[in-house]
Amino acid sequence: MIRRVLYYSFHASELAHIFQMKNEFSQFKPSKYRLTELSQDRDDRDYCYEALKKVSRSFAVVIQQLPKELQDPVCLFYLILRGLDTVEDDMNIPNDTKEALLLSFADRMNNEEFVLENVGDTQDYQDLMLHFDIIIREYQKLDSAYKEVITEITKEMAIGMNKYAHKNVESYNDWDDYCYYVAGLVGIGLSKLFLASKLETSSKLESNDLSNEMGLFLQKTNITRDFAEDLEMGRIFWPEASWKNKATNLKELQSSEPKGLAALNEVVINALNHVPACLDYLHCLQNEKVFRFCAIPQLMAIATLQELYNNPKVLHENVKIRKGKTAKYFMSIKGYDRTKKEFITILKKMEKKDKTGQIASILTKINL
Ligand code: MG
Repeated sequence: MIRRVLYYSFHASELAHIFQMKNEFSQFKPSKYRLTELSQDRDDRDYCYEALKKVSRSFAVVIQQLPKELQDPVCLFYLILRGLDTVEDDMNIPNDTKEALLLSFADRMNNEEFVLENVGDTQDYQDLMLHFDIIIREYQKLDSAYKEVITEITKEMAIGMNKYAHKNVESYNDWDDYCYYVAGLVGIGLSKLFLASKLETSSKLESNDLSNEMGLFLQKTNITRDFAEDLEMGRIFWPEASWKNKATNLKELQSSEPKGLAALNEVVINALNHVPACLDYLHCLQNEKVFRFCAIPQLMAIATLQELYNNPKVLHENVKIRKGKTAKYFMSIKGYDRTKKEFITILKKMEKKDKTGQIASILTKINL
């Protein structure tokens, strides 16, 4: 506690940001009742936002940054993909059944009675699946342009999930491909929803490459950070190419700091290679609210990578960025120029520790 107080007396501005953010967050506390106890007359739309808070509080907060007309499409896009992922993650479903269920999931969005009982690893996910008919009814109310995007992405993601049910992520190319299915497609879908709203018009959003890299950057950051947590479950999501030439097994990778750090720094730098594309993407956004929605997670991701880089703690625990820093980024993202400046400041700090020169070359790809 004392350390905390001292810390914030030197970082007073961060403390102010925390209070500001707490206010913003407090509106999004999940309510006390369980979703299974919902009364019949409760509005379906409210249910969707309540469900969103339960399955991802941080996303429920970020979505509030979006213009009103995009909130429902993005909320439902997220919930439907969450539903798909809940099926994928449930290890009690036999493989054949799961494969068929994933592939038919998008079509089931036309069945307003579709629900799944006893599917999901936690109560919140089970509730989501048990009330999926509500989500489908709300989805059905969307403009057809939004619906088309959501079903198209859901279909393709299901194909990727089935592909990686039988395949390991060996090379860095596999890593890109795997992340394309689980996250790049989310970026591509979001861009298409922005375009469908007509709030964004840049032809660069139609280029799937930039949108894909936005997703890859976030996903690779999470995968890198979650090393210790995933290893507890007996597997990691780093590509085998990052560690198999360094250690004979994951336990050795974890216990040998030089080997562990070598692999860690490799995956961090691989992720950083997406930064120029992410900045390109952010640069072409016209709507200030859409910009904030996109820029906040990106800035959090690079701040996380800065924290992870060359940090032996990553091998044993889930390293997070300080609350104050998170709050500072959350509140201070205003426009492209300031955001880009933050990215460059962070990269320059990391560059000082990088003996390979790779971060320096990433910096040269950013138009300074
Ligand atoms: Mg999954």
